[in-house]
Amino acid sequence: MSASTTYLVTGANRGIGLGLVASLLLRPNTTVIATIRSLTTATDDLNALPVAEGSKLLIIPFTLSLSSPESSAKDLLSWLSTLASTQTPKINILILNAGLGSSFHPILSTPLLSLLSHFESNTLLPIHLFQTLHPLLSNPSKVILISSSLGSIAEMEGAAPTLAYGISKAGANYFIRKVHFEHPSIVAVAIHPGWVKTANGQNFADSIGVSEPPMTLEQSVSGVLAQVDGAKKETTSGSFVSFDGSVIQW
Ligand code: NDP
Repeated sequence: MSASTTYLVTGANRGIGLGLVASLLLRPNTTVIATIRSLTTATDDLNALPVAEGSKLLIIPFTLSLSSPESSAKDLLSWLSTLASTQTPKINILILNAGLGSSFHPILSTPLLSLLSHFESNTLLPIHLFQTLHPLLSNPSKVILISSSLGSIAEMEGAAPTLAYGISKAGANYFIRKVHFEHPSIVAVAIHPGWVKTANGQNFADSIGVSEPPMTLEQSVSGVLAQVDGAKKETTSGSFVSFDGSVIQW
């Protein structure tokens, strides 16, 4: 039997997170810890997923309370410790997928509160999760940020109304490259999943008058997982890549 691999995927109840969990569960000897915002979140889609032999799905709630991040961290660790009776599971691959793309405006009409909410979900949330889960990461491990090409400063094109979303993803990109340099045993990569038919992808399409995003969830998930599987310290770590493996400039 091959060694088992444990993934933790955030934002797993819908969209790309759900697609990633679905694909990972089809791999044998794979444990997927799926985080959702709260136990009141609908999990029928997750619970209905087929699971390969020797694999399992564990669903746990996680939400970041900015007024009390210590208690958010404590709650998450306590949920994780209840998963294994004898020891807390080591996480081999952490996929920081949860993210917000809910309102798109040009600079002059971007509400500061929209900047704040995108910063909270897209920048602070992955940083907080990394801080909390770092002791549970295996050595070596991979930490993957599901980022967005809209967070690239070097490749910014046109005048798409992406201030709040783009800044928050650029901030997260900075964080993931920092992980690469500060933590030699961690393969840290930012991955652009493509422009995908999900709520997030549709919100952006609506903001620029496009009927729907071009990519299916399946295309995105298979591309993202190919990048996750192939990520190595010597090559991709510390870089920003697209689902098809092409490098995106920061
Ligand atoms: P969806 O809107 O379909 O799903 C977003 C997921 O993130 C949901 O599970 C949502 O939980 C969770 N989430 C958002 N904010 C928080 C938060 N503060 N705390 C906990 N969970 C949160 O989006 P996608 O699946 O498309 O997006 C997944 C990732 O891919 C995001 O990081 C997004 O920025 C990125 N991305 C997506 C693109 C696309 O075209 N779809 C393009 C480029 C990047 P809940 O259901 O409870 O709201």
